[in-house]
Amino acid sequence: MNRKLAQNWTLEASASLYGIRDWGAGHFDLDGQGNVVVQARFNGDKVAVPLMDIVSGIEQRGHAMPVLLRIENLLDARIALLNESFRAAIARTGYQGEYRGVFPVKVNQQCQVIEEIVRFGAPYGHGLEAGSKAELVLALASLREGGLLVLNGYKDREFIDLGLWADKLGYRCVFVIESPSELPLIIERSKALGIRPTVGARVKVSAKVGGLWTETSGDRSSFGLSTAQLISVVDTLKAEGMLDCLKLLHCHLGSQIPHIADIRAGVLEACRYYSDLVREGATMGYLDLGGGLAVDYSGVRSGHVHSRDYALDDYCNTLVGTIGETLSAQGIAHPHIVTESGRATVAYSSMLLFNILDVMHFEAVALPDTLASGSHPLLRELFALRDGLDTADLTAHYNEAMTLRDRIRELYKDGQIGLRERSLGENIFLAIAQGIVERIVQAGKTPLGLEGLRDSLADIYYGNFSVFQSLPDTWAIGQLFPVIPLHRHLEAPCREAILSDLTCDCDGKLDAFIVAGGESRILPVHPLKQEEEYYLGVFLMGAYQETLGDLHNLFGDTHVVSVRINQDGSFDVMKEISGDSIGDVLSYVEYNPQTLFEQLRSTAEAAVRQGRLTVPERQRLLEEFSASLAGYTYYEK
Ligand SMILES: *Cc1c(COP(=O)(O)O)cnc(C)c1O
Repeated sequence: MNRKLAQNWTLEASASLYGIRDWGAGHFDLDGQGNVVVQARFNGDKVAVPLMDIVSGIEQRGHAMPVLLRIENLLDARIALLNESFRAAIARTGYQGEYRGVFPVKVNQQCQVIEEIVRFGAPYGHGLEAGSKAELVLALASLREGGLLVLNGYKDREFIDLGLWADKLGYRCVFVIESPSELPLIIERSKALGIRPTVGARVKVSAKVGGLWTETSGDRSSFGLSTAQLISVVDTLKAEGMLDCLKLLHCHLGSQIPHIADIRAGVLEACRYYSDLVREGATMGYLDLGGGLAVDYSGVRSGHVHSRDYALDDYCNTLVGTIGETLSAQGIAHPHIVTESGRATVAYSSMLLFNILDVMHFEAVALPDTLASGSHPLLRELFALRDGLDTADLTAHYNEAMTLRDRIRELYKDGQIGLRERSLGENIFLAIAQGIVERIVQAGKTPLGLEGLRDSLADIYYGNFSVFQSLPDTWAIGQLFPVIPLHRHLEAPCREAILSDLTCDCDGKLDAFIVAGGESRILPVHPLKQEEEYYLGVFLMGAYQETLGDLHNLFGDTHVVSVRINQDGSFDVMKEISGDSIGDVLSYVEYNPQTLFEQLRSTAEAAVRQGRLTVPERQRLLEEFSASLAGYTYYEK
């Protein structure tokens, strides 16, 4: 960072560097003390709580970092926003149907999340979508009377029976037919139980959507009926005298759809199917457009995969407007609009908070003023290259330095120079590379051939977390999440870093960030202080991450803390779930912690017999071993 900028650093500069007001969507901001705050609204009044206060509240309650923090208010706010936005669009256009949102359980199955969605969503009639037997079981037990329950996924006899009973519990349960083979079983079970099913048909739309999940739609999508299969479903229902059971058309275009134009095209196609099903004589009444409402992870509001070129209002207006106009023109009654927004409902409410354990700098340690008289000529040549950077062709200069460094390494391999000389050579090279990066930063542009240099000299900040456990999508599909220090925003973040996790895996890192409105391999961070922890947060990660996470290197579940913000600016810890202990994760890979303890005890006893260990030492060792089994899998202070 350039020195002048660093001296005049402001909160505003930090806010725009990290883009918090863009991706934060009003839920996150910075306060006057330079802290990241989470904001809740109470009838228009905004209440802001510094996350650092929540961090210390959590630590005082005995939970070490990393912690997955859930803010219940944000979950409520998103459900309210989704429903209110659809209501507003419906009121504005005089649309005749209602909006009936369902939350797709697969996006976050955690009990606290589902309970809160059901509780807060009840006045809106917000329902659930389940895609497997296990999800159906939890949905059946969680939902409130009158709630809409949409059933996707493969359905066996047990699944179908449970779904049929759901009707008797007072839910509106829809079996969405994804493949033609499901229908005969549904008909058979419905006859056996004497319960008429509500059936939906999932179609493949041919409209292709952009983004990371393009495979979800189109002819080769593994979900949904082809037109021939749809016709056969209609014919079968007709033949059984059950066409009145067909009430819903389902299409899911994909997730995180960046372009509103793609959504409109998909909705138009869905309307065609819908009206033809009405013409075929099906009762219909519901049009379910699935998920796809994107989250603006980068905050740049563009058609980029981590963003979207529309706001929530545009989404609602597009759905309501397109369906209303298309069906009105054909004289077809407006259906209730169902969407299965998962990501946009839960992403904001969870964040991963962690501390930095250590840092590795890639910079030269103090170089001597002159080289010792007997130094190798190549070292002298390299040393001389430190001068003249201001006038040099930087790329040529760098290449020359690199060649010399490589030749010095060869000399070492051949035994012609010693360890200290090789180290000196590498150190001089780093000093040159650093000098070049400083000039690139000053000039504000990178010469051809030096594109990766700045990134390759970035610090590595070691974070107390596991990418594989907590942020699997960053590794699996290159998902971008906003990352920002939780404090010190009045200070210039004058270091540049990538974040490495605790696993011994080179993929265990975060190296894609949103910086100054663009994507960057390096994150500006503050230098670590001797006596003060440095905390960072990864935001907008409430969707999909928790159950996809795995036990790589046996880092287990983090602690999860749910917080509710009060109108007076205080907060209550609503729920604390301790993360996995070491004993827990070992039992997941089929060890028995008790047996492990007994094994160690007999090894220790043998050591006592052989005089290598005293009895008090044995005792201390066993106590520490026991404490470890019960302890957190992450780094503890
Ligand atoms: C995954 C999925 C969703 C959720 O999509 P989001 O983009 O997260 O809103 C909705 N419906 C179905 C059928 C899904 O498979």
